[in-house]
Amino acid sequence: MKKEKKVGIRIDVDTLKGTQYGIPNLLEILDNYQIQATFFFTVGPDNMGRHFWRLFKPKFLIKMLRINPITTYGWNILRCGLIGKGKKIGDNCKYYIKLTSCHHEVGLHAWDHFSWQNSIHIWKEKKISYHLSLGKSFLESLLNKPILCSAAPGWKTSELALKVQKDFNFSYSSDVRGVNPFFPLFSDNSHGSLQIPVTLPTFDEIINNKISLKEYNAFIINQIKQQSTYYSVYTIHAEIEGIKYLKKFKELLSLAKNEGIKFCTLSQLIKKNNKNFPVCKFIRKKISGREGWVISQK
Ligand SMILES: [Zn+2]
Repeated sequence: MKKEKKVGIRIDVDTLKGTQYGIPNLLEILDNYQIQATFFFTVGPDNMGRHFWRLFKPKFLIKMLRINPITTYGWNILRCGLIGKGKKIGDNCKYYIKLTSCHHEVGLHAWDHFSWQNSIHIWKEKKISYHLSLGKSFLESLLNKPILCSAAPGWKTSELALKVQKDFNFSYSSDVRGVNPFFPLFSDNSHGSLQIPVTLPTFDEIINNKISLKEYNAFIINQIKQQSTYYSVYTIHAEIEGIKYLKKFKELLSLAKNEGIKFCTLSQLIKKNNKNFPVCKFIRKKISGREGWVISQK
């Protein structure tokens, strides 16, 4: 019998459509496979339409067309927040967030995903704190329990944001890419709270980057097998794997099961490997298949 390998799975929920349609689909599938995951919710205004249109620069447009944004995300997402303020996701999706929380770990992705992703590098302390506070308090009052984890939109954060985040007492955050859990080192030699980095590429990064849809699941399974035996983290999106590529995701879970890969929440992943994690530097990095920079463990 193959040795079991644990892989942390996080589900990022960026939009109203992803929460309304992707979440129920994913909850059903995860239940069928008896998998618990970590869901990071966006709960403020859905302005993500602006984000997708911003990506339409000539060079990136060619890559984006490989996943056909209109059929992948749908017009509803591409339109959100283009005119006026986007609808508040949390207020419109209380039922689905509560339902998720009954079976899975729930954390904060963002109050306003679009604004954070595009401006966090220039935000001052007050604004960062305001957004974290709005998002965390919304989830806490809805679920009536403390929210103990967070994940920055698009793996975009800053030293200031990581410093501000310390006041929110998350037991961990997953704001960066990297290879193992660590504490981010600041320029004044102090450090931030625990980071659980994502180690594996996302669907859009791979499909934008020469791997065909047919080869995708085998590629991910292979990547998981090549990674450290004790630590791998995979991200899916409610908008992508929860809607248009649901069947593909089901196939991935089935393949993973046959290979002895067991998906779990990020908390469960580190509980098992509760070591003294190192303090590491972090840098801005370009990731193949993704527009702009992300923060990565150095
Ligand atoms: Zn996101």
